Amino acid sequence: MHIVHRESEDPTKYEMACLSGIFNLRRPPHRPVAVIQVTSADDIIEAVRLAHQQQCQIAVRSGGHSMAVWSLHPDSLLLDMGKWKELAVDTDRGITTATPSITSKELSDAVMQHDFIFPGGHCPDVGLGGFLLQGGMGLNARNWGWACESLAAVEVITAQGKQLLCNAQQNEDLYWAARGAGPAFPGIVTKFHLQLRPAPAQGIRSSGYIYPRALYRTAFEWALSLIPQTDHNTEVVMVAHYGGDRTSLDDLQFLVYFVSMEATMSKAQSALQQVQDTRPAGTLVEWFYQEDSLDRLYNNQHQANPHSHYYYTDNVFLDNDVDVTLSLEEAFLTLPPGKSSAFWYPMYPHSRRVLPDMAFGVQSDHHFCIYSICEAENEVPRYRTWVDEIMGRIRLHAVGAYIGESHGSHPPSWYWGEERADRLAAIYRKWDAGRLFTGVQSAELNN
Ligand SMILES: Cc1cc2nc3c(=O)[nH]c(=O)nc-3n(C[C@H](O)[C@H](O)[C@H](O)COP(=O)(O)OP(=O)(O)OC[C@H]3O[C@@H](n4cnc5c(N)ncnc54)[C@H](O)[C@@H]3O)c2cc1C
Repeated sequence: MHIVHRESEDPTKYEMACLSGIFNLRRPPHRPVAVIQVTSADDIIEAVRLAHQQQCQIAVRSGGHSMAVWSLHPDSLLLDMGKWKELAVDTDRGITTATPSITSKELSDAVMQHDFIFPGGHCPDVGLGGFLLQGGMGLNARNWGWACESLAAVEVITAQGKQLLCNAQQNEDLYWAARGAGPAFPGIVTKFHLQLRPAPAQGIRSSGYIYPRALYRTAFEWALSLIPQTDHNTEVVMVAHYGGDRTSLDDLQFLVYFVSMEATMSKAQSALQQVQDTRPAGTLVEWFYQEDSLDRLYNNQHQANPHSHYYYTDNVFLDNDVDVTLSLEEAFLTLPPGKSSAFWYPMYPHSRRVLPDMAFGVQSDHHFCIYSICEAENEVPRYRTWVDEIMGRIRLHAVGAYIGESHGSHPPSWYWGEERADRLAAIYRKWDAGRLFTGVQSAELNN
């Protein structure tokens, strides 16, 4: 293991180590006393021992993609797992084991070689660590569910430096927490054991329909009307983004995007044909039943979420009974011109299924998320104010939010529900009574 210490390291190298792998340019000012780059479970056990010895808290970073940059805490020991990359596929059992810094794309590339797929994150470079612990809104989540539901087991190092296997039979409470606690998990995950699914045998097909700003209602009401009958293995999203030179509200466009993950081409074609037959007139661009691939989907995400920008994000699960088009109209139609985006992601039918007993539990038919993105630091307050004000009004029609794309400043019940938040707090107290781990920054669980 390699330790980069604030007191003894060259300041530039120390700063680079502190910020290594962090996606968002909007970062808290806090810095750790040292960054410990770990590449094994033994390194982590040693780091836990050091933390006790030096009476420091431990913060963890896997892929560095948390929007709130959960891994930067004042005077902590930062465990950077980014260089520890291990992945194995057990093709007989359809299980992969992976270290938390493995990204969505690395996982997907490895398992696709064996004709498996995993509902990993849409963004290619999100780390499994943060993504899975918080729930994981991955590929075709509306039918394949939250990625953490495919977690067969998890290997954990506790605040006492013990190495544990946690699954449905042993250390069940940590296994429960590992599926949804996110930054409030009271341990360090060293490996995930993930149940894989058969990959769509004949590939992936997509259709897309881009509407101008003026057709917001037409496009959205159409997309909403499709959900109850659209094939369950077709992922649907409506994304607002700017086209043209991205400078005026008139450049705002709505992409209604359908990706079929059906096992056969004939099923994919029939699913996408139903969509095609009902599309409203007025598209700026459209495509139907196009040959697609995970690589192309990841590349699109990469373009849509540029690196080296300032992000401020928030999201909600809307109440199932609200007028969705109306509730989101202001947010969609006043999205700040530039690179920001907002998206509606339907979770039906999964939203109506009973979830396994796990920490993740707040969901609804409609997920809505804003990624406000700007290039200059002095623009951040304006973007942030816009998001906070808009989301403040939308929250009146919401039942909670996904901790994964949140800044974590709401009460725990907003992310986990009252009962699960209480249970999580109790598990936290049991496994980390001394608060070795920094955990969530603002949504205090451990009261
Ligand atoms: C461009 C972009 C696209 C995204 N797309 C999606 C998406 O499609 N679906 C989705 O669900 N989310 C998405 N997210 C959100 C992302 O999944 C979360 O922010 C997630 O936390 C990132 O995980 P990470 O390991 O990269 O982050 P990190 O910042 O490294 O980790 C976040 C926190 O999780 C905890 N943690 C991480 N690893 C461990 C560990 N090994 N042990 C214990 N605790 C740990 C720590 O508290 C850590 O500070 C996206 C984010 C970005 C920036």
